[in-house]
Amino acid sequence: RAIVRDIDMLEEKNPSIKPKPTPEVDPTVFEKRFLRKVRDLGEGHFGKVELCRYDPRGDKTGELVAVKSLKPENREEQSTNLSREIDILKALYHENIVKYKGICQEEGGQAIKLIMEYVPLGSLKEYLPRHKKDTSLSTLLSYSIQICKGMDYLGSKNYIHRDLAARNVLVENERTVKIGDFGLTKSIKENEGYYTVKDENDSPVFWYAPECLTHCKFYLASDVWSFGVTMYELITYCDSSKSPMTLFLGMIGRSQGQMTVIRLVKVLTEGRRLPRPEGCPEFYVFYVLCFIYKRNAKPTEGKEWEQSIKMF
Ligand code: ADP
Ligand code: MG
Repeated sequence: RAIVRDIDMLEEKNPSIKPKPTPEVDPTVFEKRFLRKVRDLGEGHFGKVELCRYDPRGDKTGELVAVKSLKPENREEQSTNLSREIDILKALYHENIVKYKGICQEEGGQAIKLIMEYVPLGSLKEYLPRHKKDTSLSTLLSYSIQICKGMDYLGSKNYIHRDLAARNVLVENERTVKIGDFGLTKSIKENEGYYTVKDENDSPVFWYAPECLTHCKFYLASDVWSFGVTMYELITYCDSSKSPMTLFLGMIGRSQGQMTVIRLVKVLTEGRRLPRPEGCPEFYVFYVLCFIYKRNAKPTEGKEWEQSIKMF
């Protein structure tokens, strides 16, 4: 009796040790009616991402989440892609990869939304230009290592990202970044996918390795090339006047559609690369190396991330 009373008192003092009622609901299923939009976070090729509060109690105490849905014009053709992105993200657990939280399905409808953790400082592309002063070279290096670690993990799961770029790396806090946007990610066990290149802003062609452009073939090592371009973005603090697209277009001249790809392949084959960004010699050495071992790497090697982390 005394013991039972003691336990009761203990529970009263520490409500957290009380056995919780068994949850009846799947915590990864978010109900649309409780999802309140706070603001837009951004948009990319096919999707848009909104900051929402999931507030089942309706008293604004619910958690903030990032909600990705397809733009209405892409809803039909891209819905299997978003479902694939959801399946991929669901299976990934790494400190440098954005965390999956669940899905929200419209009642009766097919439209599905991806619920992720909210990464408060946005993408590196938004963050870096505004925080140039408080971001040192060693911080940029640390971000680069974290990107490598996330990519190494992704590669270990046999996935290629295919859209690694500053716009798809999210900033958790001053010290931590996470890879996001798995919308173009493919499993290398699948048949090689074909991605139709669109000539729009931030078109990933300027982040792509030659074999991706000439044969539409993406290897684990192709992501290493994109990583080189992403590092270039980091070193230039994502200054849009020096962006990969701006500079490559400067080299090849304004062009459209398939012509862009043909001319880009030509300059890359001639050995032309993004110029060395100002003031970062050591960094640049590494960035060049990324390109070099990419060229020597056999498509199946996949040791590049490990090597990069060691080199930093
Ligand atoms: P898309 O596939 O359309 O490119 P992204 O997943 O890249 O969509 O998201 C678009 C933008 O939304 C990103 O560049 C980033 O600015 C913002 N964003 C995406 N996910 C999050 C998140 N979890 N937290 C905060 N911002 C995000
Ligand atoms: Mg994106």
